[in-house]
Amino acid sequence: MSKLDFILEELVTANRILANEGIVDSFGHVSARHPGNPQHFLLSRARAPERIERDDIVEYTLDGTAIDERGRAPYLERFIHGAIYEMRPDVHAVVHNHSPSTIPFGVTGKTLKPLLHMCASIGHEVPVWDSHDKFGDTALLVSDMAMGRDLAHLIGPRPTTLMRGHGATVVGRSVRHAVFVSVYLELGAKLQMQAMAMGDIKFLTPGEVDKVISRTGPYTLNRAWENWCWRAGRPFQAELG
Ligand SMILES: [Zn+2]
Repeated sequence: MSKLDFILEELVTANRILANEGIVDSFGHVSARHPGNPQHFLLSRARAPERIERDDIVEYTLDGTAIDERGRAPYLERFIHGAIYEMRPDVHAVVHNHSPSTIPFGVTGKTLKPLLHMCASIGHEVPVWDSHDKFGDTALLVSDMAMGRDLAHLIGPRPTTLMRGHGATVVGRSVRHAVFVSVYLELGAKLQMQAMAMGDIKFLTPGEVDKVISRTGPYTLNRAWENWCWRAGRPFQAELG
């Protein structure tokens, strides 16, 4: 199997997993940097993640121009992906979602931070990008490269950001990594709301977060991925050597 075949299958699986785990609904998307050309990325045509097939996946340049569109309408918010790949050479996958439990943290000024070891991968704390700061009244969607770059700038070296009144964006070193962080971002947000209702929270310390992140390698990612593949009815493909 070629690297491109592997990534195309991986993206179909990622879409199905994110839908099945409740991280995306009819909206939200996941992309991968093109394995043969770091200046391009792969992202489905505009379609609900649960419905996506391999032939829906389109190749784009980093400014969001389709290479071979063949009538496949693009997601308006593809600029999120291109702008992050442009700024972050270490990033090989991006998930954008409207993950429900994260939304309250984007609008209340309460900071989302890891309180569970499995959630350390969300980073020490999750910043909030507010499109209104620079772009004023918009439909809140990231609809051009200027907005995408502003979002990418706020993420900086981090793995995650919230987007006020809209959702979240997660980056990863692989598709499996970005999906893993996305699932635990939603869980962490849900648990933090529950814990806030009970009282003061003792979050993971910065040192604990760093230690957990350093242990989160292929063993952990593949264990979760294999299970999520099964739950989503998709084959588990061995990683290419
Ligand atoms: Zn969105």
